[in-house]
Amino acid sequence: MNVTSTVIGYPYIGSKREWKRKLESFWKKELTEKEFEAALKQLRIDRLKHQQNLGLEYITVGDFTKYDRMLDLAVMFNLIPKRYDVLKNPTINELYYAMARGAKEVVACEMTKWFNTNYHYIVPEYEGQKLTIQGNHILDQFLEARDEVGINAKPTIIGPYTFIDLAKGYDEKEKALFIIQLLPLYVQVFNELTEAGAEWIQIEEPSFTKNLPLEEIQLIEEMYKQLHEQAPHAKLLVQTYFESLHAYERLIQLPVDGFGLDFVHGGKQNIKSIQEFGFPKDKTLSIGVINGRDIWSVNLAEAVSIISTVKQLTNLENYWVSSSCSLQHIPVSKIFEENLPKELYDHLAFADEKIREIAHITYFIQKGSWLKEKLVANSMKVIEALTTHPIRKNERVKKALDTLVPNDFKRFVPFKERQQIQKESLKLPDFPTTTIGSFPQSVEVKKTRSAWRKGEIADAQYAHFVKEESARWVQIQEEIGLDVLVHGEFERTDMVEYFGEHLKGFAFTNYAWVVSYGSRCVKPPIIYGDVEWTHAMTVKEVVEAQELTDKYVKGMLTGPITILNWSFVRNDIPREAVALQIGYALRQEVAALEEAGIKIIQVDEPALREGLPLRKENWEYYLQWSVDAFKLATSDVATDTQIHTHMCYCEFNDFIDPIRALDADVISLETSRSHGELIHSLKENPYELGIGLGVYDIHSPRVPSVEEMSAILHESLAVIPKEQFWVNPDCGLKTRQETETVAALKNMVIAAKELRKQVITI
Ligand code: GLN
Ligand code: ZN
Repeated sequence: MNVTSTVIGYPYIGSKREWKRKLESFWKKELTEKEFEAALKQLRIDRLKHQQNLGLEYITVGDFTKYDRMLDLAVMFNLIPKRYDVLKNPTINELYYAMARGAKEVVACEMTKWFNTNYHYIVPEYEGQKLTIQGNHILDQFLEARDEVGINAKPTIIGPYTFIDLAKGYDEKEKALFIIQLLPLYVQVFNELTEAGAEWIQIEEPSFTKNLPLEEIQLIEEMYKQLHEQAPHAKLLVQTYFESLHAYERLIQLPVDGFGLDFVHGGKQNIKSIQEFGFPKDKTLSIGVINGRDIWSVNLAEAVSIISTVKQLTNLENYWVSSSCSLQHIPVSKIFEENLPKELYDHLAFADEKIREIAHITYFIQKGSWLKEKLVANSMKVIEALTTHPIRKNERVKKALDTLVPNDFKRFVPFKERQQIQKESLKLPDFPTTTIGSFPQSVEVKKTRSAWRKGEIADAQYAHFVKEESARWVQIQEEIGLDVLVHGEFERTDMVEYFGEHLKGFAFTNYAWVVSYGSRCVKPPIIYGDVEWTHAMTVKEVVEAQELTDKYVKGMLTGPITILNWSFVRNDIPREAVALQIGYALRQEVAALEEAGIKIIQVDEPALREGLPLRKENWEYYLQWSVDAFKLATSDVATDTQIHTHMCYCEFNDFIDPIRALDADVISLETSRSHGELIHSLKENPYELGIGLGVYDIHSPRVPSVEEMSAILHESLAVIPKEQFWVNPDCGLKTRQETETVAALKNMVIAAKELRKQVITI
């Protein structure tokens, strides 16, 4: 028997976000290209050694990136869209970061969510380019690990099926050509790695966990047959995660040497499949038993018992004990968290602690005894201590939720009537302009907040600063000519953290960062107790802004599902129960805003869609409880109070019904990176409620021209009736600079005003 400990991937940001700092310094030209490369090399080496010190036996390379691993592959395969030709003799880094972030002359590539996570990858664009290998960075990382750290690492690469599945720009006919071009490149990478001495190659194929139609299954079989024929010496392990392997009985027979399965998400189904169809004797199985998506320590006995079950079913000889997915979705180490309640701290396990769990379990299996006495008992004790903590037994919350009735989940008057009533009471112009909520968080805003957090400036002084900044932006918005204003969210570092800090049941960490996209990191709060509203959280700032203007200022809240999906959530009760608790808490905040005279209230749900289960058969249940939580938060308002919501990275096509079910008076959507598709789907599926399509991409510093935005508005007018039409950027502006924000919004308002004139004269 041969048992090895491994992980699918390890975070690359560094325990103190060192990686992010290096990238951003390089973008600001504070580092030369040489210094930058040297710094990244050091980070890579350090993290390999670190994993080794944690006791991990089989360490992965190729899980490190300069921005995004899909982009790494796109550039490696020379999948460069034509529009980047405008860059004159760019260095490889200039080209790479232009694709990632856009440049003065050219827009960035589209970015979208990685399966059901809050990580965003860059979408590769196939335009019929001639594909070749431009530098095998996975081989480089493999050799670096061998030469600098002395290890034979396990290279990982996103697999060809998933890569093609997530890329865009091809139709069925072009797809064949794309595949024909791509497969030899994968073969080349595999052969180069094998020749360099890689024992195994981990091929990540998370798309194997989606609902796969028969022709896709056949395609996968054909692709892997060719890979096997052309790289016969490469030892390939197909790694799936986030759900059970679909079409198990066929895909498990692919001509590869191993399979990695997720025994946490979709674990029951994977076990059922093994029971029913067995597991091929000649293959190695990687058992993903440690949850890579949560931050809770495992009950070691339970983890071992899952492995035993799998072992009994399979009679396995060779297997790996692994994480359920890459650990990049969780923070690096809990040891820096000094301010957490003891019961919470003890039950936490971030990436490093999870690696230790994997090492412990592997040790137990290899040796038949635990490395330390009491390991198992302790793993149970810490879970028990938090489960029985009073913060998880809030009687007030329980009582309030127990007494809810169906009418608490719906608005009193249907949309069509509300629309008329709101039109008369709000008196907004046609094509009203607005923004999504946040304005640039300047260096000064961030500095002041951090000084306040450190206690260097007093509460009153900080509140005064926030108020002044908001007042300044109210004036800027008036000058720009926007119709519905916002206060700018200067008091918030993050749209979830802010609410968590005010609600009961949450805890906050100091360094528990995870990457959201590129170098942008988020620090998800931890929901570890019952969630309860105890005081108004947003009223003061919104009302202060409202007092400065005759225009409406929108109240701005983060919705229950976004708070849920962007937090680390307790695992002792179902997620849906936590969602309802948050929905109920927000309902009280909405009431407080309304009572303070706020007439338009936006409840953002950018994360609603990403929480969709990967398998369609599980959608209905998720949507039912998540829509319920949103409606619980937003239904208890007067008919003339206008409820807005906002979503980004939302594929409208398959999501229009849930969006409609939210019954929000207005939704603003991110679209500018994939505008055409949205227009198309609106044509197919007319939408009846208020809607604002993002008319420009806020993820890039580029200022779009009036003409560009006008063109988008005109296109949209073909599918959205005037009465429903709103004009807005595609997301919050907090990551942008002030000058570019003002310039872009001015152009946007001009475009909207021109449209008003044109439509009136038509
Ligand atoms: N209101 C938030 C903001 O403007 C929404 C952000 C988001 O959708 N991610 O920042
Ligand atoms: Zn957004």
